[in-house]
Amino acid sequence: AAKGGGRGAFRFFEPELDHLMHVRRNLEKDMRKALARGEFELHFQPIVRVEGGRTSGYEALLRWHHPERGMVLPGEFIPLAEETGLILPIGEWVLRAACAEAAKWPSDLTIAINLSPAQFRSKELVSIIVGALATSGIEPHRLELEVTETVIMHDSEAVFAALGQLRELGVRIALDDFGTGYSSLSFLQKFPFDKVKIDRSFVSELASKREEARRIARAVVAFAVSLGKMTTAEGVETAEQLAILREEGCVEAQGYYFSRPMQASSIAQQAQRKAEAAVCAA
Ligand code: C2E
Ligand code: MG
Ligand code: MG
Ligand code: MG
Repeated sequence: AAKGGGRGAFRFFEPELDHLMHVRRNLEKDMRKALARGEFELHFQPIVRVEGGRTSGYEALLRWHHPERGMVLPGEFIPLAEETGLILPIGEWVLRAACAEAAKWPSDLTIAINLSPAQFRSKELVSIIVGALATSGIEPHRLELEVTETVIMHDSEAVFAALGQLRELGVRIALDDFGTGYSSLSFLQKFPFDKVKIDRSFVSELASKREEARRIARAVVAFAVSLGKMTTAEGVETAEQLAILREEGCVEAQGYYFSRPMQASSIAQQAQRKAEAAVCAA
């Protein structure tokens, strides 16, 4: 270990930094090959109507099956993909694969896809989305794009134009992780979006004994309703959280309480069981 400051401290940190850089370089190298090797996969998590419990659609969540590390979650590689620009080809793959999967589902189910700020800075975003819709044949209104406040605060002119074009096509826009960003209410009011996703950090605080958390949820729902937006609560894990959200007027919910993100084949099986039940009930 280092003795005091100066060159000693530098020597202490160097191997660690070196190791980190090495890990990063390897991750980047592997990521460059991952698309061609078919190592990416989408998992899907249901988004459920709070009233009645019907599934309105699914959010696509990216997974990477790394040959040595096993399953890598987006939190571990999306930031590096954004820094290196690899998010552009990866994001395009996600758009196409998610739309292709949704085309196999009953046509009343929506597909929500997360977009990075870098994708919005690319001039090709709108044409890539138009292409994904055309190839898959899904109706634009079934597609929902999830963007964070960071996306809309970046280079707002270009983003505003892209969002406008997409909405004209009938594609819907959801503001993801709402409440964690720094945008002002007046700024948000100007942005063309359809839905607010209440961040998991607020939902996890919801419990009958936590009155402040409940007031925050109430305020967010009221804000969304007053702007005419839909509301979805993220990260719902308990029946109690769901009951509070229902009382506060939240329209949709998503979280482990209903289901973890699952493989595409499970959705097809679910749809089949539902169809069979409907036929039996008739
Ligand atoms: P997000 O869009 O806010 O997605 C919700 C995250 O919360 C997912 O994590 C999901 O698995 C997790 N989650 C859902 N319900 C619960 C719950 O009840 N409890 C807890 N503790 N967690 C829950 P995941 O899949 O690790 O994704 C993390 C983030 O990575 C996403 O946050 C999104 O911002 C980003 N991401 C995922 N897929 C993509 C993608 O295809 N493209 C881009 N650009 N970003 C993606
Ligand atoms: Mg999301
Ligand atoms: Mg979110
Ligand atoms: Mg999140």
